[in-house]
Amino acid sequence: MAFDVDISPMSIDRLRAVLSPDQIEAFDRGAEEARELLGGRVVWNVNSTARGGGVVELLQPLVAYARGAGVDARWVVIEGPAEFFELTKRIHNRLHGVEGDGPLDDSARRLYELVLQHNLDELAERVREGDVVIVHDPQPSGMIEALAARGASVVWRCHIGLDLPNEITRETWDFLLPYVRHADAYVFSRESFAWEGLDRDRIVVIPPSIDPFAPKNEELSPNTVRDVLRASGLISDGDDPGPVTFERQDGTPGRVERRAHLTEERPLGPDDPVVLQVSRWDALKDPLGVIRGFAEHVAPATGAHLVYAGPDVEAVADDPEGARMLREARALYAELPAEQRARMHLATLPMDDLEENAIIVNALQRHARVVVQKSLAEGFGLTVSEAMWKGRPVVASRIGGIQDQIVHGESGLLLDDPTDLAAYGAAVTELLNDPARATAIGERARERVRERFLSARSLLDYLALMRKLVRAPDAVAADASVVKQAVAHPGAAGR
Ligand code: UDP
Repeated sequence: MAFDVDISPMSIDRLRAVLSPDQIEAFDRGAEEARELLGGRVVWNVNSTARGGGVVELLQPLVAYARGAGVDARWVVIEGPAEFFELTKRIHNRLHGVEGDGPLDDSARRLYELVLQHNLDELAERVREGDVVIVHDPQPSGMIEALAARGASVVWRCHIGLDLPNEITRETWDFLLPYVRHADAYVFSRESFAWEGLDRDRIVVIPPSIDPFAPKNEELSPNTVRDVLRASGLISDGDDPGPVTFERQDGTPGRVERRAHLTEERPLGPDDPVVLQVSRWDALKDPLGVIRGFAEHVAPATGAHLVYAGPDVEAVADDPEGARMLREARALYAELPAEQRARMHLATLPMDDLEENAIIVNALQRHARVVVQKSLAEGFGLTVSEAMWKGRPVVASRIGGIQDQIVHGESGLLLDDPTDLAAYGAAVTELLNDPARATAIGERARERVRERFLSARSLLDYLALMRKLVRAPDAVAADASVVKQAVAHPGAAGR
């Protein structure tokens, strides 16, 4: 039960290269303060998976940079039987307002508590008084009270965001509140995602960030972009690019050698203008709307091609939703008139080597003239920050955290109604037809990400939170003690 993820430290020095002088100064001060404040303490991160998903993407660089700054940050993954993860998936779906495959009743609660108790048996004795524990998402939240009882400061980091909670969401909050409310602070990606029923004073907003040096975001020269896209079969100009190598995060060499699977009439040429959406095959990413809107409103008005790139779902046996959505996308493609089909490329990207996959996504994003994120619901949208960092003009739905990422008309274009295909088509066409504006928006997009959405920013945000928790626990936990007292001795809180 529960295992450690081994994370090699990454030097924070390299972050300097992408920060402004003011940011470098704040960052250097922060690193020094972090060492002083957190010396002798462990900063634990607890979540439920070491592979795949946005949380892993976020956590990996933050833990690595914290270690590089001299902080003893660690990452522990809880384990459990399949029924536990079925239950936590149900909780996840219900938090998004979807009924799912069963109730959250007493037997669900017993299973949840039992599995977390097993995990706690090992973890609790490693956590010392004065440590900080960041518990990620609902899966491990049932451990918060016991970890706090060890004398640690406990932060609950909720990565899930929903604009409009419904009754099912609220019922699910009720199931989880008895666990999460014991935390000293609750971190959400935006203010409006904070759950009802939590003490407002302990709510902290920290938007997700991207690592500029991850394979997904690192600089690639135009030649490398072209070679990666040729090697993975996404563009073709008749030449064999030969092997394309890249440096893995651990310093060892990697090679782009697997090919994407493409549904297309003919391969993209190197100079075909590309409009791109990178997303899982998920109804909430609206692949059908992205395809139909492009076919009806962009293809006739421009010479551009659409690439919708998602992960290879055929390899993922436990994602029937992804496979179904991909089938539907292919069926829609097959129905399109030939001249529209000729401008469509549905790509499933190889997932066997996640760093190879990341380099391909990176190259695609850099190659695109316009990047689209026409989601119907989105907590944050890492793909939006990824594309903005690469100086791409993004057209995205005005929903969830995307509203914080893009300032409409300045650092991207926001779609008021994500289901309005004509408006989506018009925004994309506008940027394709006005390269100077597209470039200006792309430049401001990169600056916006530099200012707010890089790992350095998140590290400083977490440091500010820890300063409050570690230096003056009473300041943040004043209300917490009242709540805890009220739980331990009902009626005592008002005395
Ligand atoms: N992604 C990827 N390969 C794919 C599709 C998506 O690496 O084929 C990545 C994407 O670049 C981003 C993450 O998966 O880093 C998706 O995060 P986002 O917040 O955009 O959406 P989510 O999938 O978490 O809803």
